[in-house]
Order: sequence, then structure tokens, then C-alpha cells
Amino acid sequence: MTDSADGSVFDLVILGGGSGGYAAALRGAELGLSIALVERDKLGGTCLHRGCIPTKALLHAAEVADSTRESAHFGVNATLDSIDIGKVNAYKDGVIGRLYKGLQGLVKGKSITYVEGEGRLVAPNAVEVGGRRLTGRTVVLATGSYARSLPGLEIGGRVMTSDQALTLDFIPSSVIVLGGGVIGVEFASVWRSFGSQVTIIEALPRLVPAEDEACSKVLERAFRKRKIAFKTGVRFSGVTQDSTSVTVSLESGESLTADLLLVAVGRGPNATGFGYEENGVAMDRGFVLADERLRTNVPGVFAVGDIVPGLQLAHRGFQQGIFVAEEVAGLNPAPIVESGIPRVTYCDPEIASVGLTEAQAKEKYGADAVASYEYNLGGNGKSQILGTTGFVKLVREKDGPVVGVHMVGARIGEQVGEAQLIVNWEALPEEVAQLVHAHPTQNEALGEAHLALAGKPLHAHA
Ligand SMILES: Cc1cc2nc3c(=O)[nH]c(=O)nc-3n(C[C@H](O)[C@H](O)[C@H](O)COP(=O)(O)OP(=O)(O)OC[C@H]3O[C@@H](n4cnc5c(N)ncnc54)[C@H](O)[C@@H]3O)c2cc1C
Repeated sequence: MTDSADGSVFDLVILGGGSGGYAAALRGAELGLSIALVERDKLGGTCLHRGCIPTKALLHAAEVADSTRESAHFGVNATLDSIDIGKVNAYKDGVIGRLYKGLQGLVKGKSITYVEGEGRLVAPNAVEVGGRRLTGRTVVLATGSYARSLPGLEIGGRVMTSDQALTLDFIPSSVIVLGGGVIGVEFASVWRSFGSQVTIIEALPRLVPAEDEACSKVLERAFRKRKIAFKTGVRFSGVTQDSTSVTVSLESGESLTADLLLVAVGRGPNATGFGYEENGVAMDRGFVLADERLRTNVPGVFAVGDIVPGLQLAHRGFQQGIFVAEEVAGLNPAPIVESGIPRVTYCDPEIASVGLTEAQAKEKYGADAVASYEYNLGGNGKSQILGTTGFVKLVREKDGPVVGVHMVGARIGEQVGEAQLIVNWEALPEEVAQLVHAHPTQNEALGEAHLALAGKPLHAHA
């Protein structure tokens, strides 16, 4: 069986050119593997075109708006006249465009066979795209995810997902955000900074329910202060819309009306209709099952990224793609530890975490075997300068390593780099306390928290 175009058999045939797929392609090519990469839309996938990058560009514009509004506090007299959403979008699209061009150049420069079109697994070792058969020693499934909705909640008109919200050419005067997870709170944050009235509806008892409870509390307090309304522990029951507004009813009997409804209830795997099940690939609720070496149950077929159950994050996809390429090249890479993957929520204030929450650590090691410490950013010089509140919380095994770091505060996402080294290298607080953290940085708060947990607090009140 061959690639009908030139008779060759590829080392890797990759279905999907998002974070997971293109990382496998780039690393595979670097290792001398022959690669076919199939993409039906745009190289870069969700992250570059409809996810991480556009949302973070909007959040940066939102930060500029807030800084302008608050400028007098710093003695700088500026006024915020208006938000020109056309220009905001042009800035956002400019960032995407430059990265897209760069990525296309990387793939071109690496002698990867890039095939445009929708691919289908037609045999465990072959993908067909528009009548062309690409045969591989191995196949990587990397077809990503889509924005999910709820039963009875149809997307259209004033009811949208992040895909449509990212292309809006106006700022809504009011929005209801269904879902208080990462995507929901990020959009809520942007729209509030742009002047919209925002209400978040979350079925679980708190915002960002996957994070340590302490982070949710600080975020909720900050959102209250920013006048972002939210209702937790309430469930959606129905929606109606007309030419002027959308009305959402809740199981509590309450109803809310706004210009738009953003549905941010999670992302489903994009894994049906491409021949996976027909070729015997084991699936669970639409996700492709893969073991810790990212092998599906079908020999020679791997899966990476959002279609594999777990954290739906771009850097997880990158790392999984790299892993598979190295595995196929015979490098025997170390499996990726899911709890060691850093997580950042980029609303204002930001939340950054890695490892176990305090509740998870207590469940794993026993309540008496876990200690935690919260360092308040009130004692951190740079955070005071920025005017942000928040904390760095450490969770450790008693007399053992740090197993979780949870942080909240403006710009705190940038601190997740050291936090993930600490957790993944199983550092003891005493070891981190020996390392010098530059003053005045927010990074210092991580150092201070470890000093305190090691029993020698410096700028800590409790
Ligand atoms: C609004 C939003 C914000 C986000 N922000 C962040 C963030 O800040 N940080 C972060 O880490 N993650 C973020 N994410 C998540 C991140 O985008 C995903 O985890 C990541 O894109 C997953 O990569 P992937 O390769 O699995 O899938 P995708 O990026 O979805 O790529 C899959 C690709 O496969 C293609 N494809 C699908 N089926 C076929 C087929 N049959 N044939 C050919 N091609 C096909 C698709 O066109 C797509 O390009 C965000 C997501 C959203 C929606």
C-alpha cells in the first residue's frame, strides 16, 4: 500500500494540523522521519485561529483599556474615549497572521508533505484525502475538538460559541455567559473591560471549578469588584431569542435577558465521521482512548491532543505530538504526567496552577499527610506596584515535596514556569527556599511562599 502520488510509505501520517498534529510533524521531521500532515482548514488549528492566541490578544487589549481607565490612580491623566473593535480585531488578526505565516514557513522548511483536505482513516495504516491514499508505518489521529452545546440549546443568531464571539464586529452592551470555566471567565473578563454588562451562569458551586477552591474564592471576589455578575449552582433550562435580545431561563425559575448568550460549556472531541470506529479504534463518549504512550488499541495508530481524554490545552497537545514522534523514532521518551501540565486562566486576575489541588492531595495522601501555605501578594513589592491582590498557595506532602502550586493575581500566569519545575522535579520547600528570587518581581512571591513553608518566612505576616 502506498501514497498513490509517488509510491512512498511515510513513517508518520498525521490527521489534523493543530497543536498536537503539527508538533508531531515538526519533531518527526527533525528526527529524519518522513511525514505527511493532513489538514482540512488552517495549519495551526484551534489554538492559533480560534483559541489561545485570539483570546489572549483580546485580553491584552482589555488590559490596555483597564489601565487607561485607571491611569489617574498612577498619576497619569488619560481618558478612555472608546473601544474601536474594528481596530482591536485588526490587531488580533495581525498577531494570528504573523504566527500563521511563521508556522507555514516552519512546515515548508522541513520537507513535510502537507496535504490539504479532509482526511479519513481507511485502514489502520492509511488515510485517504480527496482520492489520494497516504500510507504510513504509523498514523497519528489529531483531529481536535469543537465547542459543545447543551441539549435543546441551538447555536445561531444571538446564541454563540467562542468561534463566533471571536469574530464579533461590535461590543455587546450585555452578555450572558453560560459556563464559568476557563473560556467563560476569559470572555467575561474581556467584555467587562470593554464596557459590557456580564452575567456568568455556572451549574457547579463555584467559578473555575477545576481549580483549587481558594483560587475560585479570590476570582469571585475580584469579579464582584469588577461588577461581573455570576450565579453559581444554577442550571440552564431554556433559551429564546428575537431580533433585539436573548432570554435565558434557569431551573431556579429565574430568567435573564441580554444582547448575546455565549455558550462556554466545554469542548467535545472531533473524532466521529473519520473512520476511527470503523477501523476498530476504541472510543469512549466520542473521545479516542490512548494509553500513557499515546497508543490506541490499534497497533500503529496513535492519538494526541484534545481528542484524548484529559486537559484540553495546546501545550499538552505539543508535548504529546513531540512524544509520539520520538516514540516512533525509537527514542523511548518518558511518558507525560498529566497532573504536571501547567494550567493558566488568563482573565483578570489570572489563575495559574500545576499539580494537585489541596483537596486532591488530601484524597491521594490522606488529610493528615498534607500541609499547605498561602502567601498573600499583599507582601509582594511588584504586586503592590501593579496594584493587584491574590496569593501563591503551596500544597506539600508533610516532610515531602511540593505537589501543587496555585496562584492568583494580575499577570501571575507568567510565574507558572518555575512552579511547574518545582512540582515536576518534586522539589522540597527547603530546596526552593535556597534559591534566590529577583527583587522586586512577582516571582519573588513564589520564593517567599517556599521560605515560609520551609519554616523561615521573610516578608510574611502569618
Ligand atoms: C477560546 C479558546 C481559548 C483557548 N485558550 C487556550 C489557552 O490559552 N491555552 C491553551 O493551552 N489552550 C487553549 N485552548 C485550547 C487549545 O486551543 C486546544 O487544546 C488545542 O488547540 C488542541 O490541539 P489539537 O491539535 O488537539 O486540536 P486542534 O487545534 O483543534 O486541531 C485539530 C485540527 O485538525 C483539523 N481536522 C479535523 N478533522 C480533520 C480531518 N478529518 N481531516 C483533516 N483535518 C482535520 C482541524 O481543522 C484542526 O486544524 C483554547 C481553546 C479555545 C476554544
